[in-house]
Amino acid sequence: MDKAVGIDLGGTFIKFGLVGRDGSILKQGQKESGGAKGRGEVLLRIETAIKEALSGAKLSEIKGIGIGTPGLVNSAGVVFLAPNLPNWNKIPLAEIFRKKFGLPVKVENDVNAITWGEYLFGSGKGFRTIICITLGTGLGGGVVVDGKLLRGGTYSAVELGHITINTNGPRCGCGNKGCVESYVGSARIVSKAKKYLKKNQASIIPGLVNGNLTKITPKVISEACRKGDRLAAEIWKEVGADVGVMLADMVNVFNPEAIIIGGGVAQAGKPLFNAIQEEIEKRTFPLLHKKIKLLPASLGPESGIKAAAALVF
Ligand SMILES: [Zn+2]
Repeated sequence: MDKAVGIDLGGTFIKFGLVGRDGSILKQGQKESGGAKGRGEVLLRIETAIKEALSGAKLSEIKGIGIGTPGLVNSAGVVFLAPNLPNWNKIPLAEIFRKKFGLPVKVENDVNAITWGEYLFGSGKGFRTIICITLGTGLGGGVVVDGKLLRGGTYSAVELGHITINTNGPRCGCGNKGCVESYVGSARIVSKAKKYLKKNQASIIPGLVNGNLTKITPKVISEACRKGDRLAAEIWKEVGADVGVMLADMVNVFNPEAIIIGGGVAQAGKPLFNAIQEEIEKRTFPLLHKKIKLLPASLGPESGIKAAAALVF
């Protein structure tokens, strides 16, 4: 079976593995990224990770190396501006490792990689046009149109987190006002919960954090929601409505067959998904939204490794 090395580069860890053409993980491991020790050290650790992934494998079966990285990535596989890795800027990642290993190397922004991975191996399998969003600290997104990953003129298309949902909203780091990310990022979700709790709304959330409201996280709110907490469900409904406004616009642009939702926050489940769906239905033509499948991401905890390898296939 054809195989590829998948490298999932993050601010804290480099996760790596050998992945089969069917999306199965044949070998995996992780090491610290070592970002604080400078870019040379990070590159060295990626090299070691690739060597470990390749050790013992039949080289004739290896189709290449895929790397998912934070930051912007251009068509030549050069990485710019990764917020969580110091000095991770203008790095010709693809060229460096192509020379070192003599294999094809594909480099992509991590959320774009996840989108392609879901398309090839996950919930997007069988569709031709999908939108994938990841909800966590911020909101990231990727789009596959007619079987092709959308990259745009400078390979930085699909900044879904920075779509405006309120023209007079708070100022965002990108310079715009009222970006959807400022409404649905984890920090905002937590502050929503605190605001409601201060108004003495009944909820099991304080009990779940032993009364220490600084310990509230989106995960805690999801847990409360699963246990039937009404305030938690209300919070996810509001988040879903905000995400849905943005996605309705995207439905108008891309006419997707499926929308895939991943990331920590997405574990909130039904109230979140229902609110997103309702908002899309309210705001788009039936012909556009009728057949859209709203699906949770399905690559699982090793999604980054699988997605990076998927870039090669
Ligand atoms: Zn923004």
